Amino acid sequence: MRLLRFLRSSLSIGKDIDYYSRFSPSPLSMKQFLDFGSENACEKTSFAFLRQELPVRLANIMKEINLLPDNLLRTPSVSLVQSWYMQSFQEILEFKDKNADDEKVTYDFTDAVIKIRNRHNDVIPTMAQGVVEYKETYGTDPVVSQNVQYFLDRFYMSRISIRMLLNQHTLLFGGKVKVNPAHPKQIGSIDPHCCVSEVIRAKEPDNPVTVVYVPSHLYHMVFELFKNAMRATMELYGDSMDYPPVRAQIALGSEDLTVKVSDRGGGVPLRKIERLFTYTYSTAPRPSIDSRAAPLAGYGYGLPISRLYARYFQGDLKLYSLEGYGTDAVIYIRALSTESIERLPVYNKSAWKHYKTIHEADDWCVPSKEPKDMTTFRSF
Ligand code: ATP
Ligand code: MG
Repeated sequence: MRLLRFLRSSLSIGKDIDYYSRFSPSPLSMKQFLDFGSENACEKTSFAFLRQELPVRLANIMKEINLLPDNLLRTPSVSLVQSWYMQSFQEILEFKDKNADDEKVTYDFTDAVIKIRNRHNDVIPTMAQGVVEYKETYGTDPVVSQNVQYFLDRFYMSRISIRMLLNQHTLLFGGKVKVNPAHPKQIGSIDPHCCVSEVIRAKEPDNPVTVVYVPSHLYHMVFELFKNAMRATMELYGDSMDYPPVRAQIALGSEDLTVKVSDRGGGVPLRKIERLFTYTYSTAPRPSIDSRAAPLAGYGYGLPISRLYARYFQGDLKLYSLEGYGTDAVIYIRALSTESIERLPVYNKSAWKHYKTIHEADDWCVPSKEPKDMTTFRSF
């Protein structure tokens, strides 16, 4: 009897996921985020939007989780992540037909949102653990690695966006007062006048540069870049007591706000730059999985996740290196809030194809290490 009920409920959740995955997520602009938090916006509007949008974003990415290799899906870590998504998806759907005018309903919804946010706190290390388990058991294969990289970029981006929605809702409507006492000028997690040098803690310039942005996202990116720059410097200069400084520069143009972090830590060869953005590459010693304290380095997630934060609002993050000298890491942020619009993955035919296409041979010649025997060319 219980088994039957279980089967029936998993069948119906499958149908719900199919249904919601057919909608495309609706990307919000900074302006829309700010409007949600303005005087005339209310909990009811946010509730009505989220009870549709959250299942859509969840279902879109859940469809992609299902396309992962079976052996990866079966690892305890990935199964656990998947069960969190199922649970949260169902919890939101419970509000589908509820009356938005009933205060108790919106109150319960905010409660559910907080619970969901907490449930998903450890998604990144848990998913990462699943990938490690999989690679240790089944080894690596370039096609699978490419698919996993493609998936993780989309999966973590989806998570950033969902957390942004959850955070905005709880920060604006979760407490008794709308204003966060620690950051009275912020609209939820957004600062309409985010002072870039203040976040970086750089020397205050004469004309401080401000932008509509999420200070915690900027802080995350800059923190990771400084951490990398300082490690490279320390590793190159070892015990010498004199280290070249790490410098940060901020520039504001009509389209871009750019932050550059420069070090003289010896740089990285061009051949390796792309690899630094993969989720499994790090030259730091791997930290033990169960160490409680947050390790300073070692998962190799610093750059890829920071790049996702930059891209989330249509910016980017790039590394320019002069091997033998040092590295410039550059964060690009949209200067105009009208251009800062969420960049969201959508599950459709082209996404599906990425997982299903058999990767064919490269259409550029592979350079051979040894020069060919020149006698073979004589017949020409
Ligand atoms: P984590 O950031 O997760 O703690 P990590 O620093 O190894 O670990 P990333 O920040 O993604 O991971 O960087 C990946 C690798 O890129 C580093 O291990 C390092 O080898 C190289 N790297 C990154 N930044 C620099 C830099 N400024 N100079 C030289 N090498 C760098
Ligand atoms: Mg790092």
